[in-house]
Amino acid sequence: MQYAEKMSIEDTSVDYPSAHVAVDGLSIDVSLQAAAPMPAPSAVARGLFGALLSIYFTQLALARNSSYSGPAIPCEALPHLNRCLAYAMSVRSYREGFAGPRKVSLEFGRTSYNPVSTLRDVSKPQTCLQLVSGGLDSALSLQVIRQNELGCEGIHVEGLNGDSATESSELMGSRRIAETSGIPLHLFRFATTPLSHYQLVGRWTKFPPAFPATNPVPHARETMLVAAAAWLAEAVGGRPAIALGSENSAWSDIFELDGRSYPRWDTQSRLGVRAINDIVRSMGVAMGPLFAPIAGRTEYRKFRELHALQPEYLRDSSFCFWGKNCGVCRKCTRYFLHQRSMKLDLLTFARNPLTGGSDLLVELLNDRGIAYRDLHLAVFEMLQGGSLGRDEQRYAAGLRKVADRVRKEFKEMRSEEMRVREDDSLPAWFDPRARELFS
Ligand SMILES: [Zn+2]
Repeated sequence: MQYAEKMSIEDTSVDYPSAHVAVDGLSIDVSLQAAAPMPAPSAVARGLFGALLSIYFTQLALARNSSYSGPAIPCEALPHLNRCLAYAMSVRSYREGFAGPRKVSLEFGRTSYNPVSTLRDVSKPQTCLQLVSGGLDSALSLQVIRQNELGCEGIHVEGLNGDSATESSELMGSRRIAETSGIPLHLFRFATTPLSHYQLVGRWTKFPPAFPATNPVPHARETMLVAAAAWLAEAVGGRPAIALGSENSAWSDIFELDGRSYPRWDTQSRLGVRAINDIVRSMGVAMGPLFAPIAGRTEYRKFRELHALQPEYLRDSSFCFWGKNCGVCRKCTRYFLHQRSMKLDLLTFARNPLTGGSDLLVELLNDRGIAYRDLHLAVFEMLQGGSLGRDEQRYAAGLRKVADRVRKEFKEMRSEEMRVREDDSLPAWFDPRARELFS
C-alpha cells in the first residue's frame, strides 16, 4: 500500500481515447478502446475522457496533488470536476479510515473560454444507452426503460473489475441479458499498461481486493463507464440518454467515523450523478442526461420485480462479487436469502451460506439497521415458508430471533421495501415506476 503525493495526466490521443497518467514515480498508459469500428471521438469527448480519468485515478491513488494536460477544458466545467472529485475522495477516505476526507485540487493546464450551453435537457430523447454490467440491476433497468417507451442499446465496458473471473462472468451475463432483450450490445475495453488495472486498484489501499470480503469492483468506476457512453452517444447521434444500472436504497448520505463526517455522494449517488451531468453539460458533450432508472428501488423490490418481469434474467445475470456464484460473498448471501424466501431455485451457488458461513449473515443477526431490512424480511419469509434443513442449523437460533422481531412489523416493513423512492436526479419525462406490478 502506498498513497500518492502527486499525479498528472497527459492526453496523447490520436484515434481512440488514450492518456498517460503519472503518479509519483509510476508511469501508466491508459486506453479505452471500442470492440467494433467507431468514428474517432471528438476533441470534446476526448476532453471528457481525460477529465473523468483525472478524477478516477486521483481518487484511486488518493493523490495529494493532481494535474491534467489534455484537450482544453471549458472553465465552466472546473468547479463541477472538482466537486465530483471531492465526493469520490470523501468515500475513499472513509474506507481507508483517514482522519477526515482528504482534500485535493485538480489542476487543469489548458482551459477554454467558450461557454457552452448548460441548459438542462428537458426533451425526451428517442434512445437510451444502458450501461450493462450483466447483473440484476442493469437487467431491471432495461425493463424500466422499455416501459418508458424508449429505444435501448447496451454498453458493456471490460477491464474495470480487474479480477478475471468477474470480468468474464460480467461479460457473459451482459451478452445473455442483451440477447434475451433483443438489444445490441456495444463493447468497450479499458486497459492500463504496464501495470494492470487490478494491480493498480490494489496498490493504493489498505484493503486490496481479497476474497470474499473486499470485492474487486473499484470505487467510482462510473466515471470510466460514462467516458465510453459519451463516445458511443456521439457515434449514435441524437443526444441519447445514458442509464446507469445502480441503486442506492440502503445508503445513508453521511458516514460518521471517529466523530468526523464523510459525505457519501459518490458516483452512484443522487448528487454524484448530478455532478457528472453538470460536467458533461458544461463541456458540451453530445449526450443526453445521465440517470439511474432504478436508483429508488430497494434490493428487496428489485429481486421480486425482476422475477415478475423476466425470471430468466435472475438465472442469467452475473451477481457474485467474484464471478463464480461463490455463495460466500455479500452479494451471493443476499440473493441466496431472497431466492430462498421466494422458494425459487433459479440462481445456483457453489456453497450454501447457511451451512458454509458468511460475514453478511453474522452482521445481519446483530443488526437492525436499514441496510439489512430487506434481509430481515427475507429471513422472516424464509422461515414462514418452511423450516431450515437439517444441515442448516448453524445460524438457526439467530435467524428465528430475526423472524420474531419482524413478525409484528412485517406489513409496514414490506410496504416500505416495496416503495419506489423519489429521486430528483431523474429527468422529468422519466417515470421510474412505469408499470406498477405490485399492489
Ligand atoms: Zn459470491
